[in-house]
Amino acid sequence: MEFDAIVVGTGFGGTIAAVQLAAKGKSVLLLERGTFWRSPDPIGLNVGDPFGDWAKQNKMPVQYWPRPDHRKGMVDFAAALRNLHKFGLYQYSIFNQADVLTASGVGGGSLIYSNVSIRSDKVARDRIGLNISDADYDAARLWMEGPPHNPADPATQRKNANRGWLNYVVTKIPMAKNMTAADFVSLGVDTTKPPLQQDTDEAYLLLDRSRVLRMAAKQVSQKLGIPIEWNPLELSLLEYDAYKNAGMVKNSDSVPAHTHCERQGRCFLGCLPQARHTLNKTLFKKVLQKPGVTLKPKCKVLQIKQKPGGYDVVFVDEFTGNGETTAFAPKVFLAAGVLGSTEILLRSKRENTLPLGQALGTKFSTNGDFGGFAYKTTKPDGSVLPCYTTRGPINTSHVSLSFNGRFIRLEDCAVPSLFAEFVSKGLEVLDDAGASPNFFQLMAASWQANLGEHLFEIPNTVDPKNFQTEAEMLVDTFFFNVMGQDEATGKLKLSGIDNDQIDLGWEQPLAQQKLWADIETLLREFSSAMGGRFIDLPTWQGLLGKKKIVVVHPLGGCPIGATHEEGVVDEFGQVFDASKPAASKTALPGLYVVDGAVIPGALVANPSLTISAQALKSLTKALL
Ligand SMILES: Cc1cc2nc3c(=O)[nH]c(=O)nc-3n(C[C@H](O)[C@H](O)[C@H](O)COP(=O)(O)OP(=O)(O)OC[C@H]3O[C@@H](n4cnc5c(N)ncnc54)[C@H](O)[C@@H]3O)c2cc1C
Ligand code: SF4
Repeated sequence: MEFDAIVVGTGFGGTIAAVQLAAKGKSVLLLERGTFWRSPDPIGLNVGDPFGDWAKQNKMPVQYWPRPDHRKGMVDFAAALRNLHKFGLYQYSIFNQADVLTASGVGGGSLIYSNVSIRSDKVARDRIGLNISDADYDAARLWMEGPPHNPADPATQRKNANRGWLNYVVTKIPMAKNMTAADFVSLGVDTTKPPLQQDTDEAYLLLDRSRVLRMAAKQVSQKLGIPIEWNPLELSLLEYDAYKNAGMVKNSDSVPAHTHCERQGRCFLGCLPQARHTLNKTLFKKVLQKPGVTLKPKCKVLQIKQKPGGYDVVFVDEFTGNGETTAFAPKVFLAAGVLGSTEILLRSKRENTLPLGQALGTKFSTNGDFGGFAYKTTKPDGSVLPCYTTRGPINTSHVSLSFNGRFIRLEDCAVPSLFAEFVSKGLEVLDDAGASPNFFQLMAASWQANLGEHLFEIPNTVDPKNFQTEAEMLVDTFFFNVMGQDEATGKLKLSGIDNDQIDLGWEQPLAQQKLWADIETLLREFSSAMGGRFIDLPTWQGLLGKKKIVVVHPLGGCPIGATHEEGVVDEFGQVFDASKPAASKTALPGLYVVDGAVIPGALVANPSLTISAQALKSLTKALL
């Protein structure tokens, strides 16, 4: 098998590589370890659905998101974990000091992400020496959205979009598309009134938890005397599409019967109305139907071997059942994510099939990911401060601030209805058990609260609590999604019985990095402004014996650097040739890493837009 280029992985970096290569008419082999994932909503399965027809004709493996039904949905969710099912959607990697959650499937992380598409702040990029400019971000945005709105010719909108417009979803009802972030910040608010009154005035319109975060930010800002700016998040999903049904937009990516985000609060479980601009849609629209493109799902890449004029890529082919297979190309784009790309290169280094340096596996960053709850949010008059955490997209708004010299970002976060009963009962247990219970206290409290029985009990028809909806169960719970500047000192290596499993560790205990204490201090302030009690995630409380971070935005492992002593790739993602002298900047011809592995530290932002901007920069160089 020989191609112009091989792309490994189909997430953010891989899709950009595939689209750019296919647009130039290159023959491309796309290797992906996972399968397709789709909505079980019958609209997606209708006869005549072009993707469904294509998938059947090409015998593609297709699996379905969890069902909306809550208890069955929990079972569906568990069944989609790769820990239980080899071709599952979620990869929960358990390491000594941190766990890492990533995706596996055609479309990579876009299948389970929360649609947040924001730029990192320059202060964060400068700190880690990442040279992504505003022009690079503009290019990534244009790549996603297509040419900007042209009032003189609306039919050209999105004509060349690879994904679709970014939208704000902080309102309870769909809003007209032309509103700006500034419109949402000031919408109906009399800013001369006290924060809580402003909050109440807007209850009819803004999503409750978006409003609550804004209200708390104002109070904390006043109390701590530091500027804290609230803004809606830019989300890569379809809000109400006023133009679509008027027939004015070509190539709109909404399914005709569904036109916008229905605020179902389950983005990372898969969007039933298909409102999200996931990358499987991009690949189908822009890559897979082109001649010369071959997608092989269920194919896990093991290793890369340098050969005259290019590279052999070795993979296990479970799509056709051919077992270990080799394909050759002069250009290879590694986009298997932080864990995947680093693992492939570590194995290639160990087997001496690529000349790689000492920086491989270094600068792993948690992105400062941290979570926690404000529990029993209450107004000063003692009534409930409603957050309705199950409603709306997973993340809707954010605040950023500098605290103790560190840059930190806080976002509101949904809990999908599937988990509402589990989370509300769990929080009850954790709250009863005190601020930092040890494992045995927690188990005892859990036993007393009959957590298991609550989950599977038969309803008591005379108890009104039995008739709480999931939304009501979490009406007074606020879930924080936080990012901050960590030290990026994690190290990835191969270990295990066969010395072949990816492993992550830190020389100094991760839990002792000062960042976490700063974040907890801040979250206590925000919880208190919401009239609630702060509760850490059980993993950070040491539920399983050790304080652990759960990382959803892993970065690094193949970091950008000036030479092969400092980094694995150059500014354009091209892999350094470590057989050359120490100060050499010589790169291996045609070998690139184009995913989150190249980012050399915390972005303090949801990283997909930065990864996309960096990948686009690499592809532009590679295709010169
Ligand atoms: C719950 C959750 C919510 C998130 N929300 C957001 C958000 O709102 N905004 C945001 O910016 N980021 C978000 N992220 C993070 C985001 O998903 C990642 O940063 C992003 O997906 C990384 O992109 P990537 O190109 O590096 O790799 P990925 O998107 O992870 O893609 C890697 C691909 O390679 C495949 N692969 C891995 N190993 C191999 C192999 N050996 N052979 C073949 N294929 C392989 C994988 O199956 C996968 O498809 C979220 C993450 C999680 C877990
Ligand atoms: S909130 Fe619901 S409808 Fe909106 S994008 Fe997320 S899953 Fe889809």
